[in-house]
Amino acid sequence: MTTLPSAGRNRAEIFESFDEFGKDDLDWRNGRCFAYVFTAGDEVYAIARDAYTRFMTENALDPTSFPSLMRMENEVVSMTSELLHSPSGVGNFTSGGTESILLAMKAARDWGRAEKGIERPKVIVASSVHPAFFKAGHYFGIDLVAVPVGRDFRADSEAMKAAIDDDTVMLVGSAPAYAQGVIDPIAELGAIASERGLLLHVDACVGGFFLPFLERAGQPVPPFDFRVEGVTSLSVDLHKYGYCPKGASLVLYRDAELRKHQLFAHTKWAGYGLTNATIQSSRSGGAVAAAWAVLNSIGDAGYRDLQTSIRASVLQLCEGINGIDGLDVLGEPHAGLLSFSSSAVDVYAIVDGMRARDWYVQPQFGYGNTPRSIHLTVTPPNVGKEEALLGDLAEVVEGLKTAAANAPADDPLTKLVAAFVSGQLSMEQALASLGGDPSSLGKTSAPINRVLDALPNEQSEELLRAYFNLLYRGDST
Ligand SMILES: *Cc1c(COP(=O)(O)O)cnc(C)c1O
Repeated sequence: MTTLPSAGRNRAEIFESFDEFGKDDLDWRNGRCFAYVFTAGDEVYAIARDAYTRFMTENALDPTSFPSLMRMENEVVSMTSELLHSPSGVGNFTSGGTESILLAMKAARDWGRAEKGIERPKVIVASSVHPAFFKAGHYFGIDLVAVPVGRDFRADSEAMKAAIDDDTVMLVGSAPAYAQGVIDPIAELGAIASERGLLLHVDACVGGFFLPFLERAGQPVPPFDFRVEGVTSLSVDLHKYGYCPKGASLVLYRDAELRKHQLFAHTKWAGYGLTNATIQSSRSGGAVAAAWAVLNSIGDAGYRDLQTSIRASVLQLCEGINGIDGLDVLGEPHAGLLSFSSSAVDVYAIVDGMRARDWYVQPQFGYGNTPRSIHLTVTPPNVGKEEALLGDLAEVVEGLKTAAANAPADDPLTKLVAAFVSGQLSMEQALASLGGDPSSLGKTSAPINRVLDALPNEQSEELLRAYFNLLYRGDST
């Protein structure tokens, strides 16, 4: 068990520890990592870091005590509202896409109660939506109806319309959805929502700061923002293609009446009059100041250059991947992300093969009529690495075609999971019996993903919860 040092350690020792801790982390600077990190280069990074620390101690809990933070938040909301053609400029700064989505779902629930007397509201989503919507349902007592996507992996608006009932308060579409990077038919969903008097949330977490700049550069972008009649709220992450440090997203509303259902106030205690716009109460000013600094530092022209270069890279990758025998890009990716599947070899084995060549690409489950796939999120460090990636990818696929691609039968992780699934052992017991340490589980992804993919939903979710329950504890290093 780690304990507090009896006397404080000096700065040099502390930062030496960080170097040691970080040696197994993904290297996001080398351009070989296609997930998790969005950065726009050293200059923007330095500005963001200094802006963050300048305001990291100021507290956004009370905007009247720190008007600087409210001003920066309102300016960031305003700049983004203009990009997305919000008629109102109403919105809030949140800690991330998940919080933005939680808030839009909470607002929809309370709107349904107040306006329609609906006790147990229902939200209809495409099966491709981000899990944050299910998390909101789980936290807030909202039922989710997930309607399978069509053959193009986009929302099936007619099927979503058919799922509407008296308890429905909101429809959700994505621009684009994370897994396949395709944009749902937002205009069709908007027409349905308007006609039926429902809300429509557009999850533009990963596209909201990307697509507007393609459009400004003269490239075709399907309608997805507040110009679509019927869109009532929208989530857009600044810590993705806005290139801001993590902890930065916005939830935007068509009007302030709807946003009122997001807010929380409490006066019946012996303390100060508490009002929270978002989920957090005490909240560092760092993320707000850093976001304000990054948006101002990159500017319209800078974002246009960055996003069009990423778009060109995505198109080059799609063409190259489709040119590799046995690989197919799924659907028509419309922004900075794409996915591909394989008819020839197990994609999970490709992921591990690429990992062995120092590339990080993300394995994705098969679900419904969407096959197992590999996901690439393209960001500025990746631009220019296309040929190298495609070359290695072709070689890995060729190698797997000739080798027996399956995991060895005595793979310890497969044995552990089998014991867990058959109910013989708890995850803790299974690990102990292997003498295993939980951190070894991250080294290969194929065996665990095959098992998770094959398990019924309840068991796979239980397995993941057991795994995390094991990872996060004081004595695990
Ligand atoms: C990233 C993402 C989210 C969730 O955002 P976090 O910032 O990770 O909480 C939601 N929807 C989409 C489409 C995303 O890409």
